[in-house]
Amino acid sequence: MVAMERSAMRPEQPRPEPPLLAIYGALLEAYGPQHWWPAESPFEVMVGAILTQAAAWTNVERAIAQLKATGVMSPQAILALAEHDLARLVRPAGYFNAKARKLKALCSLIVDRFGGDVDAMLAHDPEELRRLLLATYGIGPETADSILLYAAGRPYFVVDAYTRRLFARLQVRPPGDTYGEWQEFFTARLPRDASLYNEFHALIVRHCKERCRVRPLCLSCPVLPLCPTGQGTVST
Ligand code: SF4
Repeated sequence: MVAMERSAMRPEQPRPEPPLLAIYGALLEAYGPQHWWPAESPFEVMVGAILTQAAAWTNVERAIAQLKATGVMSPQAILALAEHDLARLVRPAGYFNAKARKLKALCSLIVDRFGGDVDAMLAHDPEELRRLLLATYGIGPETADSILLYAAGRPYFVVDAYTRRLFARLQVRPPGDTYGEWQEFFTARLPRDASLYNEFHALIVRHCKERCRVRPLCLSCPVLPLCPTGQGTVST
């Protein structure tokens, strides 16, 4: 009785955070391996990482198909193209003038710093490579980390708008909202494993496209048992 009274007086404990690996496991079980990144070469991954900025992947695929059909899917060939011709080829991905300029900047980095050798670039010290990428026109942390993870196979967790949306709804998130805080939040709680980061990010994207949309489909969600937001929605 005394014990019960003591426990009744205790302040309410914060809800325990569901471990990230439990969320990962539920997503993997629901959707299976995603086989990312869909590309034929590491250079194509890098091109895709730039073209996918603010663009639907189907439109990126059309732009990549045009680059391949024209035979310019290499740093040297892209640098040799006039910028307006490159812009015309990547037009389906939107913001085509800016993206042509960004692709040229990336290719200049590969050619000027690594002699045009993509493998040498990707084998470079990853922190130094991240700094070089971030110093390149049009490459922010999300694009840099996509390149490091999906082209170079380095363990850099990619944070995008889908990640923020899903984990805010799961109430598993850092106190701040900067890219670095989000990335550190995941990195501190997960084994530093490139294949895990690869699959986890791909699953987050798949889940947010299919279920955790702007208007979420919580009733059929595989992480509903772990999601306070979804539980609040379905119980009202
Ligand atoms: S339960 Fe709803 S809000 Fe929560 S993760 Fe699933 S779809 Fe998103």
